[in-house]
Amino acid sequence: MGLPTGTKAEREIVSALIDVYDTALFDLDGVIYLGPKVVPGAAEAMAELRRREKTVMYVTNNAARPVQVVIDQLNRLGISADVDNVLTSAQVAAAALQAELPAGARVLVCGSANLAVLMGEAGFQVVAGADDHPAAVIQGYDPDLSWRQLDEAALAIQQGAGWYATNADASRPTDRGLVPGVGGAIALLSTALGGAPMVFGKPYRPMLTEALRRTGAKHPIFVGDRLDTDIVGAVAAGIPSLLVLSGAHGKGDLVSATPAAHPSCIGADVTALLKPPRTANVTLGRATCGNQSAAVVAGKVTITSVPATQEEQLDALWALTQLAWGDPQLDASEALSVLELLP
Ligand SMILES: [Mg+2]
Repeated sequence: MGLPTGTKAEREIVSALIDVYDTALFDLDGVIYLGPKVVPGAAEAMAELRRREKTVMYVTNNAARPVQVVIDQLNRLGISADVDNVLTSAQVAAAALQAELPAGARVLVCGSANLAVLMGEAGFQVVAGADDHPAAVIQGYDPDLSWRQLDEAALAIQQGAGWYATNADASRPTDRGLVPGVGGAIALLSTALGGAPMVFGKPYRPMLTEALRRTGAKHPIFVGDRLDTDIVGAVAAGIPSLLVLSGAHGKGDLVSATPAAHPSCIGADVTALLKPPRTANVTLGRATCGNQSAAVVAGKVTITSVPATQEEQLDALWALTQLAWGDPQLDASEALSVLELLP
């Protein structure tokens, strides 16, 4: 009789979603933290990924906050991070514009002081108005943006300046509700001028391309809470993705997602990386995941029993999601309402 091999911890390692990946890329808000608070379990999960020698990078569209501010916040929440672990859309924009424009080119920054500093560090001459004949205009989120700055940007673009934006998020979640994101300022210029800028942040390609370049990832997975930025970006870049339900989007958003926004896996939060991967088996009109199953009955997606735990409800959600994705005409609303432990 052979002795059991491996410690309990070693056997657990074999069964985790993260096992087949060398790198995990994370969105921040709604994934690692919610406003000022850490997502429960996230700090411990990040420490465990580090212990398993996985490469970790935090990838944020927020262009207004300097990298060091993001690092300090992560450290305060008990998560170790340094400049090698954080990538902002402002950094991606600065790097990309170095390839697009000659060194020393004049750039009109219609965004935060942080963005202007990064543009200066990238070797550009930051100018204040259209009369300085900038080669490019870059828009980024700035809570102090003035109409006068938008006027200068509009005039420069009409004079032929290249038009760029760090990201295009329509809104920003705050503890008081949603407020306009930089997408609103972009729409304002688009309304006035027609056309649209080249955008660097998620879901657009440059952000994840830069994240892959910096990490040297061979087998990355992207972890996000938004289908329209995180998951769409990962799908477009051909990267497997984990949608976590700890942030912006929930079960209803998942089942009605278009194919361009289909994650390859779901979990309650980032601790799903350390649990067995959730896989579904689909046959005609029926799907199973773990011990849960879903079926198509009279134009509706139904689940065969009411799962007791959150993990079982996630299994049921993943099963019924496969059927709903296969036929968008199917009504999944009753089945979803049964899954009370899921947002
Ligand atoms: Mg997010």
